[in-house]
Amino acid sequence: MGIRVDSDKCTGCGSCVPVCPFGLIELVNDVAHIKEGCTLCGACRVICPSDSIVIETAFASPAADAGDYHGVWVFAEQWDGKLKGVGYELLAKGRELADALGTDLAAVCFGHNIGEAGQLAAYGADKVYLLDDPSLATNQEEIYAQALVKLVREHRPEIVLAGATPFGRAFFPRVAATLKTGLTADCTGLDIDETERLLLQTRPTFGGNIMATIICPAKRPQMATVRPRVFKKGTPDSQRRGQIIQVDFNSAAVTSRTKLLNFVADLTERVKLEDADIIVSGGRGLGKPENFQLLAELAKVMGAALGSSRPPVDEGWIPYSHQVGQTGKTVCPRLYIACGISGAVQHLAGMQTADIIVAINDDPNAPIFNVATYGIVGDLFKIVPLLVERLKGE
Ligand SMILES: Cc1cc2nc3c(=O)[nH]c(=O)nc-3n(C[C@H](O)[C@H](O)[C@H](O)COP(=O)(O)OP(=O)(O)OC[C@H]3O[C@@H](n4cnc5c(N)ncnc54)[C@H](O)[C@@H]3O)c2cc1C
Repeated sequence: MGIRVDSDKCTGCGSCVPVCPFGLIELVNDVAHIKEGCTLCGACRVICPSDSIVIETAFASPAADAGDYHGVWVFAEQWDGKLKGVGYELLAKGRELADALGTDLAAVCFGHNIGEAGQLAAYGADKVYLLDDPSLATNQEEIYAQALVKLVREHRPEIVLAGATPFGRAFFPRVAATLKTGLTADCTGLDIDETERLLLQTRPTFGGNIMATIICPAKRPQMATVRPRVFKKGTPDSQRRGQIIQVDFNSAAVTSRTKLLNFVADLTERVKLEDADIIVSGGRGLGKPENFQLLAELAKVMGAALGSSRPPVDEGWIPYSHQVGQTGKTVCPRLYIACGISGAVQHLAGMQTADIIVAINDDPNAPIFNVATYGIVGDLFKIVPLLVERLKGE
């Protein structure tokens, strides 16, 4: 594996020099020279107009037992007997992947008294592996991880997906580590290389400035987590029937070093961001914490949830549970109103699939206007009160 510059092709234009995140490129005798320490991120290759930067990749040999693994699995997370939306979203994508591979799609569901398990077939699953036991009622990482590892070892799926929820992020890496396979976290795109039967796992990297597509050729299963709201739920087909397989679960055979003592709900969120149809979001342009009250008022008259970019969260103006973006939540409301938010890529990563985006910003060149359906150039402290007044019918 390595990187080299084809000196016959390099024109010495220098466009690669400023894009290297580590400052490792310089021009020597009008030819780009890459210094020691390159991480092969590819930023220079993308920008190079003469295609003179070559990254040579040595892939690990394909998994020798890959042919023994079949099927796409989606882990359908529940809380309190109710399935989370991300499970349905992953079934929609999982169906596409399974069809591309010509294989089955299965949902895997652990919990107790899960009312909707039968629904998983209506959303595309051919099979549902159901583990129902009182000890699985609360999501406990170690117990769930051991149960999933056992199931994967028995049935050998070639792909296993889960939601990048707080629980999925904690429990899925344990499963991958025990199975000694790879895991790509927080994917924003999934596709299939049909010839090699490889899962193409795309996610942002280097602070969101580059999209990387990651593969796991040498190990099975191929595992990935995807954030809620990245994919859209399919339409359920009530005529569709799947096989529900009740799996015996021996709680005495699993051990956990942790115990759930209590569950404390976050009461600062009046409407849950992930489920909201309308989100009113504020950024650094609000200037100080008290000004979020203005947005809270707008959110109240619209029945909206309150969101935020990262700086207000970092400043302690609003709790983290309201943060939208790459390191916050991914949302997909019908309407997203961005007030005093510039539109950095890391923020856009969490909201740009909203159906309608309204941006209020006093800088006409703010990048948020590039994704906005409607843009209002002006002072949010004048515009938001006018909106509240009009919506209240005053
Ligand atoms: C690894 C990494 C992860 C990150 N994750 C996230 C993330 O999850 N979410 C996130 O949001 N950011 C994230 N960021 C930070 C991101 O890069 C930006 O810094 C951030 O989104 C900027 O927030 P902002 O738009 O509120 O602030 P700014 O970029 O400072 O923009 C403020 C905007 O308000 C406008 N404004 C000022 N006053 C007014 C007024 N009176 N009326 C109208 N408009 C006004 C200004 O014109 C400006 O456009 C991340 C960064 C990194 C490196």
